Amino acid sequence: MARADFTPADRGELYIGGRWRPAQGGGSIAVEDPFTERVVAHVPAGTPADVDEAVAAARSAFESWAALSPQQRSDYLRKLHDSLAKRADEIATTVTGELGTPIKVSARVQTGLPLTVLDGYVRMAATPQPEVEVGNSLILREPVGVVGAITPWNYPLHQVMAKVAAALAAGCTVVLKPSELTPLVAYLLFDAVHEAGLPPGVANLVPGTGSEVGAAIAGHSDVDMVSFTGSTATGRRISHLAADRIAKVSLELGGKSANVILDDAELGRAVKVGVANAFLNAGQTCTAWTRMLVPATRYAEALDLAAQAASAYAMGDPFEETTRLGPLASAAQRQRVHGFLRQGREEGATAITPEGVPDRGYFVAPTVLADVDPKSTVAQEEIFGPVLAVIPFGDDDEAVAIANDSRYGLAGAVWSGDPDRALAVARRMRTGAVDVNGASFNPLAPFGGYKQSGLGRELGVFGLEEFQQVKAVQR
Ligand code: NAD
Repeated sequence: MARADFTPADRGELYIGGRWRPAQGGGSIAVEDPFTERVVAHVPAGTPADVDEAVAAARSAFESWAALSPQQRSDYLRKLHDSLAKRADEIATTVTGELGTPIKVSARVQTGLPLTVLDGYVRMAATPQPEVEVGNSLILREPVGVVGAITPWNYPLHQVMAKVAAALAAGCTVVLKPSELTPLVAYLLFDAVHEAGLPPGVANLVPGTGSEVGAAIAGHSDVDMVSFTGSTATGRRISHLAADRIAKVSLELGGKSANVILDDAELGRAVKVGVANAFLNAGQTCTAWTRMLVPATRYAEALDLAAQAASAYAMGDPFEETTRLGPLASAAQRQRVHGFLRQGREEGATAITPEGVPDRGYFVAPTVLADVDPKSTVAQEEIFGPVLAVIPFGDDDEAVAIANDSRYGLAGAVWSGDPDRALAVARRMRTGAVDVNGASFNPLAPFGGYKQSGLGRELGVFGLEEFQQVKAVQR
């Protein structure tokens, strides 16, 4: 997979009711390659009228999709998986081209992970949880209805898949609005939807801006549930829109996760894995461990190790196999990160960073921040760039207090030579996930946030249940 393989074409249509059709407005959205800084393709800017049509298509498809047997829905999802898997290379090059993720990470994470998630839902769709009896009640699980899915740009297919696959498996129908920064990979998904022959209206695609299409979906009177991934600020706006009609909302929002390295941990490994986690996808990862908490007695050593690890993050063309750090997704994102770095310096932090960045592309150099006050902006706000704050602590209680001193609570990590001690700290962390000693990501485990990191869970059976209503039938 090379830069020459990235040859996206303009996409002029929306996918509604099982067919490609023109958008109702005349507007278009330019898609930029953040390495070349050039526009590479256009997609239509959908309108609220398009959303109306897509929701109507999803509504008319709902009853018959929900009435299929679990095995029938699973068979459709299997066809979708196979059709998407054929496009794996194109997905990886598309995400690298429109987002800037290094190609190896694109293949493994941006492509491999959503295929794994879809494969899981193929199986879960076929084997629904049994209906249970509670006293004289039979408890039924039913699909919520029409789901509006609104997604961000940082894992553009995975975040779509976590919603669409789970919703379809549960028997819901979907209207998707992908991020305007990375809509091309969503088109590949809908090429696969079409090829797989999903019944018309079951899955619909309306690209567009958040303020037009996103707001129209969130506020639509016939959308039963809004499933959103993105920033906390937008999540709040979407909640307000959905609250007017008491529609169900699930929110996967931002994070400022702590990587707690206890004094009996293997410091070298913990720091190296911690840096890799913080800089994955150029730090544009909601679960990134952006605060590294280290024992005060080993602070200088940890800083050295972190700076050394960071200096190995070669910046360059994300299509080059040797590149470990691609550009940020957009000029606006780079500007935002630069603003945080400026503010960090003003608040007393010291940036340890290599000299210079490539002369084109929206790069921010891999940066380790020392002397960070845990209450300061760079320790509290989600920066969404390759920036890691290293913060010292005295004892385990102080480590937990600093880790929990955040309005977010999405993810985190603990490292210790003693698994029981690590688990004890993990239990005290107010976050939706904690990885002990670098344990691997589990795509079947519930994923979601405490506090302002969100509401509800995605992935695995917990993610599927999010798209169900529960009914009690007394007999
Ligand atoms: P964003 O909130 O700006 O946009 C997300 C989506 O919402 C986009 O599709 C956008 O068009 C749409 N949108 C924007 N304004 C809207 C409105 N008024 N009404 C309806 N829709 C609207 O976020 P982003 O910049 O695309 O993504 C980065 C953010 O997403 C980060 O904060 C990151 O932490 C978060 N994120 C969270 C998770 C998670 O699972 N918790 C995963 C990935 C990203």
